[in-house]
Amino acid sequence: RIPVLTIDGPGGAGKGTISGLLAGRLGWHLLDSGALYRLTAAAAIKHGVALNDESAVAALAGSLDVAFPVEDGKTRTLLEGEEVSRLIRTEQMGEQASQIAALPAVRTALLQRQRDFRHAPGLVADGRDMGTVVFTDAPLKVFLTASAEERARRRHLQLQEAGMNASLSSLLKEIQARDARDTQRSVAPLKPANDAITLDTTRLSIPEVVERLSELLAQ
Ligand code: C5P
Repeated sequence: RIPVLTIDGPGGAGKGTISGLLAGRLGWHLLDSGALYRLTAAAAIKHGVALNDESAVAALAGSLDVAFPVEDGKTRTLLEGEEVSRLIRTEQMGEQASQIAALPAVRTALLQRQRDFRHAPGLVADGRDMGTVVFTDAPLKVFLTASAEERARRRHLQLQEAGMNASLSSLLKEIQARDARDTQRSVAPLKPANDAITLDTTRLSIPEVVERLSELLAQ
């Protein structure tokens, strides 16, 4: 089997950054599964589909026309040929993604599409249920966490760097609301897989986390 490293955890724990760095270092493919949920929400809004219309949103998820072209080492995101890289990164789209992600039929519709990212020589899969649902046979499963305050602080910095503004207190509230929805939903709730290694990154730098995970992979 082609190896998969699953990296699950709550929003803002550093999964995206760490997954990208590890995939680059290993020369492996990268699956940003959150982007598929964000893109599904964006497609629903674009086509005027209500976010609680489970069968209509699932139909959109199943026929999602997306592409991730890489240019100058940067991955762009296209929805139906249209540039949506920035649009899908907003807090509002994260919130809307978490609404449609709670619908079982939507998760089922995205399952095979996620598994199709598994190509040689390997895959780093970033999400909420990579180790518990999508790639249950992955040889290494990691659950990355950090305190909600630290995650809000990181998100704040990230948004500032992207030229977007949001207050720290509103980000903390949004993170807590999204954590609650992601951990309490009935399908694929956010939790570490039984065989996952949990790493609390609250006091770790990005290079320290990458180093620690590289060591685990080498074992
Ligand atoms: O990771 P990201 O913030 O981009 O994910 C957006 C939302 O998509 C999450 O809050 C979660 O509700 C949902 N999601 C999910 N399963 C995944 C990835 C993301 O339910 N594997």
